[in-house]
Amino acid sequence: TVTIGVLALQGAFIEHIHYIQRLRPTGYTLKAIPIRSTDELKTCQALIIPGGESTVISSIASRTPGLLESLVEFAQNPEKAVWGTCAGMILMADKHGVGGGRKKGVEGWGGIPGLKVWRNLYGTQLESFEAPLTIPSLSSPSRPFNAIFIRAPAVFSLPHNDESSDPDSLKNGVQVLASLPTEYQPAPPPSDSPLGEPNIEDLGKVMLRKGKKMITSFHPELSGDVRIHEYWVEKCVLGR
Ligand code: GLN
Repeated sequence: TVTIGVLALQGAFIEHIHYIQRLRPTGYTLKAIPIRSTDELKTCQALIIPGGESTVISSIASRTPGLLESLVEFAQNPEKAVWGTCAGMILMADKHGVGGGRKKGVEGWGGIPGLKVWRNLYGTQLESFEAPLTIPSLSSPSRPFNAIFIRAPAVFSLPHNDESSDPDSLKNGVQVLASLPTEYQPAPPPSDSPLGEPNIEDLGKVMLRKGKKMITSFHPELSGDVRIHEYWVEKCVLGR
């Protein structure tokens, strides 16, 4: 049995649990459990950090003794599979790699070193949208994935980006799995922020993987399509 924890402090965690429960990977039994304490996290091989509100998730974690520290350690452990969706993607960034948002800022947990993100770059709740994504790595790749963006963060810049123009190339170990069609791409964030210069080419990259870590700026657990969960379990959790 492989136990997958879903951080359950705030946000869309129930949906992730239900999607994981729908998967039947050959040779393994999956168990999906909500995580609210360090002891629960210790029983997990893998973790999903859901969408919701990154500042709230972080502040609840910091008020639970030891929990924030164990989440940061888990996120940074290369042996652990971790997937951050939307707010969870924000928390996968560098400690000082989070910009944007109107309220008090938030620190990243460093799951993908060198990752910088910009909160709410896709606009307000009312500007939520759906976009068809082509994701070649999924099963039935010719069928687009209907990606739902809700106050979504964007990649501000990737670690040590090289100049390769191949969207599927491994950039210093960071693999771009999906980009938004150009008509959906966000306007760039300000370049005079403490984060430095955004990398315009990285802004529309909405699904990335580095080893056992993955981020999506949208909400795959709301699409009625389990293919991204299936991909993460096969590649990042089971490593096959
Ligand atoms: N804008 C939210 C944040 O900053 C993320 C929104 C979401 O997870 N749907 O945390």
